[in-house]
Amino acid sequence: MLSRELFWGIELGWITYLLGALVIAILGYLYYFKIVRWRSGQEEKASIHWKDQALQLFRNMLSQRLLDDQKTWGIMHIFVFYGFIILFLGTCTLMIDSHIGHFLFGNTFVIFKLILNTAGLLAMIGIILLFLRRYVLKTANGENNIKTLLSLVLPFLVLITGFLVEGSRLAINTGDNYGWQFWAFPVYPLVKLLQPLGRDAATTAHALSWWTHMFISFLTITALAWTKLSHIALVPLNLFYQALQPPGRLREIELSEDYFGTENLSGFTRTQLISIDACVSAGRCEINCPAFNSGKTLSPRTIMEKMQKISNSETTLVGDDIITEEELWACTTCGACQQKCPVLSNPVEKIIDLRRYQVMALGNMPQTWQGALMSLQRRGHPWNAATRSRLDWTKGMDVPVAAEKKQFDVLFWVGCTGALIDRNIKVSQAIVKLLQYCGIDFAILGNEESCTCHMARRAGDEFLYQEMAEKNCSTLNRYAFHTIITACPHCYHTLKNEYKLPDVQVLSHAVYLRELIEKDLLKIKTAAHPENTTYHDPCYYGRINGIYEQPRELCELAGVKLIENEKSRENSFCCGGGGGGIWSDDKPGTRIFETRAKQLLEQGNIETIATACPFCITMLETAVSNLEAGDVKVKDIAELLANQIQDR
Ligand code: SF4
Ligand code: SF4
Repeated sequence: MLSRELFWGIELGWITYLLGALVIAILGYLYYFKIVRWRSGQEEKASIHWKDQALQLFRNMLSQRLLDDQKTWGIMHIFVFYGFIILFLGTCTLMIDSHIGHFLFGNTFVIFKLILNTAGLLAMIGIILLFLRRYVLKTANGENNIKTLLSLVLPFLVLITGFLVEGSRLAINTGDNYGWQFWAFPVYPLVKLLQPLGRDAATTAHALSWWTHMFISFLTITALAWTKLSHIALVPLNLFYQALQPPGRLREIELSEDYFGTENLSGFTRTQLISIDACVSAGRCEINCPAFNSGKTLSPRTIMEKMQKISNSETTLVGDDIITEEELWACTTCGACQQKCPVLSNPVEKIIDLRRYQVMALGNMPQTWQGALMSLQRRGHPWNAATRSRLDWTKGMDVPVAAEKKQFDVLFWVGCTGALIDRNIKVSQAIVKLLQYCGIDFAILGNEESCTCHMARRAGDEFLYQEMAEKNCSTLNRYAFHTIITACPHCYHTLKNEYKLPDVQVLSHAVYLRELIEKDLLKIKTAAHPENTTYHDPCYYGRINGIYEQPRELCELAGVKLIENEKSRENSFCCGGGGGGIWSDDKPGTRIFETRAKQLLEQGNIETIATACPFCITMLETAVSNLEAGDVKVKDIAELLANQIQDR
């Protein structure tokens, strides 16, 4: 009956158990140093939710969904991943069959071998194609060093020698027991090659290939600590430890504990250190980083790689030698690197912790940011040239103020830019016009409103953020209302995900206005001359908070001809205004806003760029003017709607 013994044809096969124990000890020893490195980090404040985090790990790992956008190469990784999982489980099953109870015989054995052979073959195809991608097509990211090479070569050799063992065994046993069967199809050519050479040659080939297979398998296991194969252990660990929280929410730090961000590895938390080591140099972050793609020196991938290479946890990271200031300040915190990373390594949170130390401990920041942060401290908004009050824009509009009204349904959070900058005041006025048309019971905070400090926080000034958050929350708690709406995605994200306002619903103006139309309160007439319009997704509406549909629906309801840009929705490209970028003074050739405007204008004969963020409007209008792009208009979705209100 078809079957096989574990150490068939091998003398002293039991030695492999001793070798296996030795290899596990070596692996443990090598990982000990990694654990020491991680333990040099700060203790995690957040508690572990074992069940939810384990679910998150298995969902991400088994679905391999984080590789979704890598198309063919993602499928190749699935071949290798599932191929080796099946082979590993197969080896364990064989050991159980040999030592605990014999059940692998007859048809069960045939099916068992068929599955294992198919898995091995698919894994081999996967490795070959990944190898071709890296070394022939040269389209893979990351350094091509010996560790990268061995990460592909070692598993390949494990598979090849495994097939050699099976082929030579089948060549020896031509009788009933091990006769050629369809289940061994990958080794059929080898069996045919060895059989004419005779039983002795096949026996020698079998013994040689068996021991080589064992040796390479054990070497590959140790390589889990010293080659890129370490991702097999580190990525699941990192996926498990990823905090269960909304994307883009920053790690809270206790300033009272004298912690001001970090200048070295030991200032990161332990889970952050794991996530640095888990980076596989996939470069998805780099490909999608607006700073990198606009000629800036910042590459989130190289930031991660540089930190991986540091062996002394106390080495200062920011300076001319490792991470330059130019790299550090170039990040717009758009979150593309966080969203696209297949192992959730999250470079942007490391950048922000490094910024925190520069700003709060050293008082170091780009010169052009200083005025904005100073103005925030003194006047509660970043626009140091602004001379008006937060109520001036409401003149003649009969806008209710919370301090007088006390109780209302909706608080319209105007934001500094919407209240103080000419261009953006028009958007605030459009929203008020829409709210009044719908008869909404609303109010604004007016002069009681201060900046949410979304930008300041991402620029590194956590101190200012915490101070302002406390002030804003206590102001908001003085009034009775159930919903906050805002036309600024940065304020939206902060109010919704970072401030502690448990009893209040925070809505983006895109979602709220869409709801008003759905409830038939807001009646819109279609434009007589639909303009070619493309919608630019603001990062903190789209990528970070998943608001993609409503703004587009509003554009269409307003009657424009919507042309979807290639880089939109999850693949959108930042305007360059976030994370302090709006205060930067970029050199020509490195301006993200110009790169973005070019992308938006090169597709379709665009007449209007619609968006939903005051910073995007500022950045894109500047770019359109710099690029001398004719009469192209940049409009907020609220402005499009306000122009199309139906008469009552
Ligand atoms: S951070 Fe993520 S996407 Fe970037 S190189 Fe590392 S693994 Fe790849
Ligand atoms: S957050 Fe955006 S700008 Fe910053 S490193 Fe990541 S992709 Fe680049």
